[in-house]
Amino acid sequence: MEATIGLEVHVRLRTESKLFCGCSTETVGAEPNENTCPICLGFPGSKPMVNRKAVEHGVRVAKALSCGLVPEVRFSRKSYFYPDMPKNYQITQYEVPLAEGGYMTVNGERIRIRRVHLEEDPAKLVHVGGDITSSRYNLIDYNRSGVPLAEIVTEPDIEDTKEARLFLEKLGVMLDHLGVYDPHAEGSLRVDANVSVDGGSRVEVKNITGFRNVEKALTFEVVRQRSMARMGIDVSRETRHFDAETGSTSSLRSKEQEEDYGYIIEPDLVKINLRPEWVQGIEATMPELPDQRTRRLVEQHGISGFQAGVIVEAGLAMSLFYEECCRLYGDAGTVANWLVTYLLKSLNYMGLMLRESGVEPETFVELLTLIDEGVISERTAKELIKDYAASGESPRLIVEEKGLALMDMDELKAVVSEVVSMNPKAVEDYLGGTGKASEYLVGQVLRRVRARADANVVRKIIIDMLDSNEGNASVAQ
Ligand SMILES: [Zn+2]
Repeated sequence: MEATIGLEVHVRLRTESKLFCGCSTETVGAEPNENTCPICLGFPGSKPMVNRKAVEHGVRVAKALSCGLVPEVRFSRKSYFYPDMPKNYQITQYEVPLAEGGYMTVNGERIRIRRVHLEEDPAKLVHVGGDITSSRYNLIDYNRSGVPLAEIVTEPDIEDTKEARLFLEKLGVMLDHLGVYDPHAEGSLRVDANVSVDGGSRVEVKNITGFRNVEKALTFEVVRQRSMARMGIDVSRETRHFDAETGSTSSLRSKEQEEDYGYIIEPDLVKINLRPEWVQGIEATMPELPDQRTRRLVEQHGISGFQAGVIVEAGLAMSLFYEECCRLYGDAGTVANWLVTYLLKSLNYMGLMLRESGVEPETFVELLTLIDEGVISERTAKELIKDYAASGESPRLIVEEKGLALMDMDELKAVVSEVVSMNPKAVEDYLGGTGKASEYLVGQVLRRVRARADANVVRKIIIDMLDSNEGNASVAQ
């Protein structure tokens, strides 16, 4: 049985002011309902005006997705009656979206983009004492009301939950590169997913935040719809809510048809002509996109396509971090190895974003330099990188504080001599032909010096010592 998945992705566009008024879009640290005015509160008679920056961001998104732009931008009223939209309609685009007919490639498969349009975010409902299905009452915060969103709607081209997640991850990195949204802001990317199984009715799961949650919600729905079909029960066309706590979906309401919304062209807003020169100006300043960046990293730095892909998919900040490290250190291959194999793994393991970790190009390069200078072994570096990723502290300081520097040769030889003389049985075994007896001695030395010596160096000193007269002398005693 095949799943058919289409996504509607709401991206919160990064603008100073709201889509139709001058109120600040800042919701962090603001008192509830602080950033509001008659327009975003939907007072009768208030006159909205379109935010040019939001349209510009929308054009960037459309271009990056290879969509065709409409020559005239119009807005529409979508009627609905929920408390988060006090004027009882949302200003969106319906009859004429900003752009249509694009695509994004995921693992060589084209996912078609049906449309990209702009709309205002509704207010935020705060469910007190539970979630949408169990709260005792709701509070409404209109700070979010009127914040610009771009809605990106795919065709139902996605065939499984993993592909949905990959699509969203790639889209997120693309939007990050475009500079049109803040990937770290709460709810900056929200997804409605349409899912049907084996030609059955389409179910919409509303308002999922987080890529992992999208994958969970879709997995739950596919399994639910399949087991219903197996039991001969019809899946009904409806809207469902995803509960991130339980990883399950529950019915909210039977799905509205688009005609239920009674769309009309918004009479308070004039149509906007997208002048070709203006659009060309935006195209001329389009930043490098993730796929281009991946190709360039391979060509310019000679790293593998896999490594370049991992770095770019980790986000714009990580890509910039990598290139700055290359500039400071010179050897782009070594930087990529340590970054992909150890630093990224440590950050992911701790669930840390690069910017939260305090890791900087200068200090990361310092770590690599410590290895080159012979101050620490690679093995120590691999351990040290965990502390470094967690704290961002200078690796040189961590080495000093924890006493991780490699011992000098004389100091190390003295320890080896002592261990050899304390273990005559092992020495005898070795000289008697039991080669692995030397490994016991290596282990004993490493137990004493811990990370301050490299195992291969210790092994060489021991073998040399045992094979020379010194070894024989200690056995002869
Ligand atoms: Zn306002």
